[in-house]
Amino acid sequence: MEKKEIIKILFVEDLHTDFELAKREIHKGNIEFESIWVDEKENFLLALKEFQPDVIISDYSMPTFDGLQVIKLAEEFNPMLPVIILTGSLNEYTAVECIKSGAVDYVIKESITRLPYAVQDALKLRRMKEDQLIAKKELEESEERYRALYDSMIDAFAVVDMQNKFLRWNKSFEKMLGLNSNEIPNLTVNDVTPAKWHKLDANINDEQVLRRGYSEVYEKEFIYKDGSIFPIELRTFLIKDSKGIPNGKWSIVRNITERKVFEDKLKTFQMATEQSPASIIITNIDGRIEYVNPVYCKISGLTIDEILGCPLNTLYDGRKNSINYIDLWNTISSGLDWKGEYQNLRKDGSLYWEFTFISPIKDNEGNLAHFLIVQQDITERKDYEISLMTAKERAEEINRLKSNFLANMSHELRTPLVGMLGFSELLYDEVEGQNRDYISMINKSGQRLLKTLNTLLSYSKIESEKLVLNKTEISISNLLREEIKLFEILANQNGLFLNEQFSCPDILFVTDEKLLKEIIDNLLNNAIKFTNKGGITVKLDRSDTKIVIGVEDTGIGIPSDKLITIFEDFRQVSEGKGRNFEGTGLGLTIVKKYITALGGTIDVQSVLNGGSVFTLHLPLND
Ligand code: ADP
Repeated sequence: MEKKEIIKILFVEDLHTDFELAKREIHKGNIEFESIWVDEKENFLLALKEFQPDVIISDYSMPTFDGLQVIKLAEEFNPMLPVIILTGSLNEYTAVECIKSGAVDYVIKESITRLPYAVQDALKLRRMKEDQLIAKKELEESEERYRALYDSMIDAFAVVDMQNKFLRWNKSFEKMLGLNSNEIPNLTVNDVTPAKWHKLDANINDEQVLRRGYSEVYEKEFIYKDGSIFPIELRTFLIKDSKGIPNGKWSIVRNITERKVFEDKLKTFQMATEQSPASIIITNIDGRIEYVNPVYCKISGLTIDEILGCPLNTLYDGRKNSINYIDLWNTISSGLDWKGEYQNLRKDGSLYWEFTFISPIKDNEGNLAHFLIVQQDITERKDYEISLMTAKERAEEINRLKSNFLANMSHELRTPLVGMLGFSELLYDEVEGQNRDYISMINKSGQRLLKTLNTLLSYSKIESEKLVLNKTEISISNLLREEIKLFEILANQNGLFLNEQFSCPDILFVTDEKLLKEIIDNLLNNAIKFTNKGGITVKLDRSDTKIVIGVEDTGIGIPSDKLITIFEDFRQVSEGKGRNFEGTGLGLTIVKKYITALGGTIDVQSVLNGGSVFTLHLPLND
């Protein structure tokens, strides 16, 4: 049998007899209880704390205390604690006042038999109130839990009424729109949606949400606080009241900006690969082909079905190309790029040249995931290169033949010429008068021819790469003075001076004397040839590392646009029909080649009609 509950009753009463009377009545009502009795404030307050009553039965008026105070103090102590007023006489006014103050009931002592019922009702009321309080608390807690859940959701969540006005939302929703909680209640869904989506929203509402209670996930846009527009994805559900009448909607909303950017990138990448003029192939980590673009199929002649799933080496026909496949595989599988050019075979057996670049693709953790292969058909370029190479080889061959021919011819012409010159000198002494002048002219012309032949011989030597250096230690001052002496007569004959201007003591250094002399010969020869008045100064100077030799003239000068071309084979400032000066156009070519062979450089400075300076820089030996 269920144990009967023992309740605690606190009596506030100044008359002990009334207290006993009341207890007896309650017993009669078959209520088990324990009780204490107090008649003034201090004891009452103590009893509240110590006794912890379930119900208070209080007299309305006592000598030092009264019912209204009891109600107030009990309320302060525990708002659930019921107070029943038990009074001798009660007019309507006091009854109303008691109830207004918070008493649960009042019982007139004349009808005290009602007291047990009043006690039971009061306890029932208390339990009900307590249950309600617990339920309210639980509701609040569960709401709190849900709010915390919504707020911690990454996706935004919002509830709207049937007019699409926002009623509730989570933190993510505020963050997504950049709005604070005070700004949202005044807005409707349309206020945060660009106008172009309003019709779609309305259609989805009518055809999906209202019709079947929810929408599919769909994409549209929202407007951020600053007016910028961003893409979202959402799904809306209908909310109905207890009678099943729709009274709102709720939606889960996701910002898909990043996904869109990624999708766009992917689309661009896909378009780029599809439209690329190169073949693009992607394999898995084992080298099995997972993707080829249309260009690959076009070039190789294979269909997508024929190539997908094949191993990487299917891309290279072993019959023709020379790549080392093991080396290739070792390179890429160790995470490095590989590139190469080779000849490949199409499905139909025709040959083509290909350039391939393979680069390993790593996943986010840095592990190899795929290989990306980009191939380019370079047949045209390769054909061009091969024809160019053949042409170059042929040109070089012809050049060599030309040089040999020149060398042979020069030699063949030189030998008889030297004989002719010798005999003309002998004859010069034998004859007299005008005949002597004729012999002298023969000799002069012969000398000029010999010079030309010597130049051609030197040039052809360089061209046929037969130039061999023969180095000895020389005194630079001596060499220059000898040269000056040699050309002095010629200069004087032309009414020109030929001076030396040495700014440093003599230098002994190792070089090919013959080549250096030929360089100076050519420069002096040109200086005299291209100078009408004034003269030539041969300068010598040095730095820590170089000997600097200058041949400076006061001649006709060189136009600035010709300063470079004069060093090229057969080039002269005045060429063609307008040529004013004798010469082959090879002198400076030889000078340049020789000075380079000696490890030096040459430069020229010139002022048109003001003179030229050719400067040689020769490295000093260590
Ligand atoms: P060549 O003297 O046999 O014509 P070079 O190769 O020695 O051939 O010289 C090429 C050209 O450079 C000359 O024809 C001439 O036009 C120009 N040139 C060379 N030296 C001088 C100089 N000292 N003054 C003016 N022009 C010069």
